[in-house]
Amino acid sequence: MMVKDAEYSFEQLFEDFSKIGLERDGGITRLAYTREEEQAKLLLKKLSEDLGFTARKDNAGNLWIRKEGLDPDLPAVLVGSHLDTVPQGGAYDGAVGVLAGFECMRQLDREGFPNRHSIELVVFAGEESSRFNIATAGSKILVGKLDVEALKAAKDNKGISVYRALKQLGYDPDDLPGFAAEDYKAFLELHVEQNVILEREKLQIGIVERIAAPTRARIELHGVEAHSGACPMGERHDALAAAAEIILAVEKAGYKEKDHHTVATVGRCTVRPGVMNVVPGYTELLVDVRGVEKESILRAYEEIRSSASSIAEKRGIGLIFEHLSSENPVELDPEIINIIESICKEKEVPYKRMNSGAGHDCMNLAPLVPTGLIFVPSKGGISHNKNEFTDFGDIHAGIEVLKEAVKVLSA
Ligand SMILES: [Zn+2]
Repeated sequence: MMVKDAEYSFEQLFEDFSKIGLERDGGITRLAYTREEEQAKLLLKKLSEDLGFTARKDNAGNLWIRKEGLDPDLPAVLVGSHLDTVPQGGAYDGAVGVLAGFECMRQLDREGFPNRHSIELVVFAGEESSRFNIATAGSKILVGKLDVEALKAAKDNKGISVYRALKQLGYDPDDLPGFAAEDYKAFLELHVEQNVILEREKLQIGIVERIAAPTRARIELHGVEAHSGACPMGERHDALAAAAEIILAVEKAGYKEKDHHTVATVGRCTVRPGVMNVVPGYTELLVDVRGVEKESILRAYEEIRSSASSIAEKRGIGLIFEHLSSENPVELDPEIINIIESICKEKEVPYKRMNSGAGHDCMNLAPLVPTGLIFVPSKGGISHNKNEFTDFGDIHAGIEVLKEAVKVLSA
């Protein structure tokens, strides 16, 4: 049963959303810009309107819910996250943040809290990259990081573009929204940690200071294909053996920057011709270096570049080192961090300041409006998995901290 009773609990609310896109095996599939994601937003829209909040959707598929302030001209306090999931995902990633935001607004409304600033909840569409290979689509469109051409170019595995998917859902992607930063005082996102730190340290809240950003490269190694029996060891230019050395060099470069929380990964290795009796003539590696300190990321990246070139040279292998992208790590607002920290201390909620290795919608807003990110624990660090779990006690701690922060900011 979908919630009808005005007295429904947060747990009932959460259970109802967990049924949308639920599959037989217990996984939840609400992919970006699908009917299932839409259904979740529609339910929230209805529940919001039942409480007298105003709700509107923009043409990026984002849903905006507003509890008007006593002075509607003041910049609003924004909270939010996303309701889409990966295929066979869990009930917590994204939904916890959206429903916690809704619960805050519901409680403040019930308590008759006299917010001078309006309070808004945004549900960002298409946060997960599983369908279109674009992460945080809804918030990126909003801040102008994705234009209509990019939406036409990004396609799912059936050849449907984001542009077409938006049209199919009744949106007009030729009239994309923008973000008027001056209309907002702050943005707060609550999210599951997707890591084991909070659980391991028996903490309920993580106050995020920085969000890591990836720098990526593609390495091509051109050796010489040869008969694996006839070609003697000293005569070989084995592209895969060179790649093996480079992969270990990438790992080593990451380890060297460990104290700066930088990580380095080779996520894919393509070998040609890829048969048992031919010395590989070609290998491609995809390298991903992430961290929260730009200088540390650069040091690791440069070390990888120079190791790759000396390994290739030593082995007589041709090297193409292609820089794919580099994004800047995001720093969250120090004042918002202080507000959240004071609340945790006052409420005696165990917390720590930490960084986020994963990206979130809030990183797109952070350069434009003072932004905070609050983590609640993930059991076993599991996420993007039907077994992801966060204890309701921890979610309620998150709701309490979020609500107090919204009160401080909107008073
Ligand atoms: Zn998420």
